[in-house]
Amino acid sequence: MKIMVSACLLGYNFKYDGNNNLNTELINFLKDYDVISICPEVMGGLSIPRIPSEIKDDKVLNEKQKDVTNEFIDGANKVLLLAKENDIKVAILKDGSPSCGNSYIYDGTFTHTKVNSFGITAKLLSQNGIIVLNENNYKDYFKGVLNEE
Ligand code: SF4
Repeated sequence: MKIMVSACLLGYNFKYDGNNNLNTELINFLKDYDVISICPEVMGGLSIPRIPSEIKDDKVLNEKQKDVTNEFIDGANKVLLLAKENDIKVAILKDGSPSCGNSYIYDGTFTHTKVNSFGITAKLLSQNGIIVLNENNYKDYFKGVLNEE
């Protein structure tokens, strides 16, 4: 089984600040799976590092109020294409990101205010029937799947 995973969770320095969200527990869990690593923001043409962005009223604006919606959508479309090519059924994406977030994102005010919503890529994958999980809930999901087998 192939699982799509946010590259920053795997330790790649693709975050807006040039760092990563390395999750060794997740990496250990993934050793039995084929992993397709993605970073929609970099795939959409944004640089590392880059100015952080948040979603506001269906647009993605960076902290300097530049509209980067097109780059985010372009990255999401590339990720979806890759998911289809690889018959991906499940993705584990970094929560809180305006691309990858899938239980919460930030509200567009750059005040660290969380809202329950999806990032651009997580939403597109979910709309296309892919189960989108995050670093906090994947274990519960796979426990349930294994119990059903
Ligand atoms: Fe990680 Fe997703 Fe942000 Fe890329 S866009 S750095 S994969 S959270």
